[in-house]
Amino acid sequence: MSKQKIKEKKKIVKAKPGKEKPRTDAAAANTGNKKTYALLRGMHDVLPREEKYWKNFYHTAEHLAEHFQFSRIETPLLEEANLFIRSIGKGTDVVDKEMYVFEDRDGNKVALRPEVTASAVRAYIMHGMWNMTQPVKMWYWGQMFRYDRPQAGRYRQFFQVGFETLGDADPVVDAELILLAHNFYKDLGLPVEIHVNSIGLPEERQKYKTALVEYYRSKRSYLCDDCKQRLNKNPLRLLDCKQERCQPVKEDAPQIIDWLEEESKNHFMKVLEYLDELAVPYVLRSTLVRGLDYYTRTVFEVYPVVSDVNALGAQSALGGGGRYDLLVQEMGGRPSPAAGFSLGIERSVSALKQYMDANQIKPPVQKFDAYLAQLGDQARRRALKAINDLRNSGLKIDYNFSKNSLKSQLEAANSLQVPYALILGQKEVQDGTVIIRDMESGVQEIVDQKKVENVLKKKLSRFDDDK
Ligand code: AMP
Repeated sequence: MSKQKIKEKKKIVKAKPGKEKPRTDAAAANTGNKKTYALLRGMHDVLPREEKYWKNFYHTAEHLAEHFQFSRIETPLLEEANLFIRSIGKGTDVVDKEMYVFEDRDGNKVALRPEVTASAVRAYIMHGMWNMTQPVKMWYWGQMFRYDRPQAGRYRQFFQVGFETLGDADPVVDAELILLAHNFYKDLGLPVEIHVNSIGLPEERQKYKTALVEYYRSKRSYLCDDCKQRLNKNPLRLLDCKQERCQPVKEDAPQIIDWLEEESKNHFMKVLEYLDELAVPYVLRSTLVRGLDYYTRTVFEVYPVVSDVNALGAQSALGGGGRYDLLVQEMGGRPSPAAGFSLGIERSVSALKQYMDANQIKPPVQKFDAYLAQLGDQARRRALKAINDLRNSGLKIDYNFSKNSLKSQLEAANSLQVPYALILGQKEVQDGTVIIRDMESGVQEIVDQKKVENVLKKKLSRFDDDK
């Protein structure tokens, strides 16, 4: 860097007095300050040891999206707060209690997204996607934020994967989405059960709500305090109550299906027929209503099939979704029927782990072709280049430069279960050779460094049939 440039850089650094950023951990450590930081309540890290699960989840979703022709949409984490208030609805838990809402520096009321459907709808309208061939099929993967009371399976920041189909009213869309959710868990090896219901159109639902409130009012003295409140504020949530004392009341409550008009009933029947045809197992659950306002007709939720449901606690739904035929219009777009669903990754990973533990299934391990062990400074210098050359030829080589002894490196190779170790010592560097050690038999062979790639590939080809 020229002296002039260094001067300019110094000027820039000096140019913002009083606007220093808050010190990070690293900065604190550099000044000898021993303060360490905890996570904010309800937040959590996804640690490298979890990668083997998370990667698998992401790839499974990506493959499904490719297969069923969904394209990835990436929307901002921060949106205008009203986008969610209008779409999800006042009176819902998400909007009333759980949104991270604040004013930005310009005084705009913004929110960290609690879900993506509203953003997908905004994008569909804003980018004129109704002009494209319909339906428009989009998928997403990312963080959501809900200022919920943290407990097992409930965080304030969590990941969801979701699929949305906009611009098609046909029941085949609902069935395709349910099939996707089913396939997702099938591919991951987690048995799930899909609960389905229809909550009809707003007019049908309104009539049903009136009947439900009338029925519940007559049973008021038997209800828990929460239900007494729900009766006035959000009667459909009465059907979600898990309190024991409310169960007998719930069991005899009017069922929404009896309040649906012919068209809504037919739509639901067709969805179920498709599911039968696809052999996707489902459970009809008349009390399933979902917590967001925008749903119309089909709604569904996914649950893990476990021997002990209580082990999962109250937060057992892995995901859910449904049809939202009126949302695009309500958000200012042309009438465009749509449907979608989202699945919680943290809860799904934890359910899969529980299932694997219970059935003694081992997590997937990353497979390497060989482990490169190096001895001495010269060898280490050569080793990084050798690893890079082998990587460029398509071979996966593990190594650990923090380990110096041959013994500990071979132990590492052993625990990784690699078939071969490549040993590079002082002598090999001078001779331009590498030792290839068969980890199973212990037999070693000295090979010219230029030939190591071919020799190793030839040796590895004996495993081709196992792949
Ligand atoms: P919802 O749209 O609210 O039904 O959420 C869909 C899925 O996202 C749920 O079934 C959970 O798996 C996941 N989810 C929702 N809220 C949370 C949360 N606070 N913490 C962790 N996962 C959540």
